[in-house]
Amino acid sequence: MSTHKARVLLTNDDGVRAPGLRALVAAARRHFAEVHVVAPDREQSGASHAMTLRNPIRVQKVDERWYAVEGTPTDCVNLGVFHLLGAAPDLVLSGVNAGYNLGDDVTYSGTVAGAMEGRILGAPALAVSTTHRAGPEEFELAAEAACRIGTTLLEKGLDERVFLNVNVPPAAKGHRVTSQGRRVFREGLITGRDPVGREYYWVGLAPEEWHPEPDADHAAVEAGYVSVSPLHADLTYRRALPLLREWDLPEESL
Ligand code: MN
Repeated sequence: MSTHKARVLLTNDDGVRAPGLRALVAAARRHFAEVHVVAPDREQSGASHAMTLRNPIRVQKVDERWYAVEGTPTDCVNLGVFHLLGAAPDLVLSGVNAGYNLGDDVTYSGTVAGAMEGRILGAPALAVSTTHRAGPEEFELAAEAACRIGTTLLEKGLDERVFLNVNVPPAAKGHRVTSQGRRVFREGLITGRDPVGREYYWVGLAPEEWHPEPDADHAAVEAGYVSVSPLHADLTYRRALPLLREWDLPEESL
């Protein structure tokens, strides 16, 4: 199948009205034959791979092939693949997120989880993010980059359960293939009091700081390159398997 005939499913975690998603829709319509949008009806940043289990999910048809879902990015892709599209898409694109998804942050990301859900349900998939200061130009650049990389992904393919995390800095000079970096974790907590006197907390506000690694995703973005990281939905750390077996945890008793 040639790429231009591809059926593509778009989602995000910034919500169905986010400018990054609109930029991705516009770019995807230039690159692919059939573009479907299934996105959360409100912002779901930080939702990670959460799935709505205890509440019904309502879906609103915004336009032809365009749905707003009362749920997470994972709900959206699941509903898209199994119900709204009628069949698995050829490609899933998630983004463009306003804010990079680098290093340990990918584990919190609803954007990355949207791509992961697509991949574990069988479709080649890619998450794309740019700076949180993005305007139309930056979103468009990131969306265009995502569609081009998505086209190559369709042509070349990747192993099962492997998907791509793409981060596009403004005025990017080119691409670098990278690995997931490591954040330096510091307290990033703000406390305050609400109007009725209850204390509140605001988490996740630590300044961005990374362990220095030349091949890491953040290093590419800092140097002005599009970072392209292959991620794997299998979280097993295989090198620890023989070590754990040496623990001799009893097989026949607790
Ligand atoms: Mn987001």
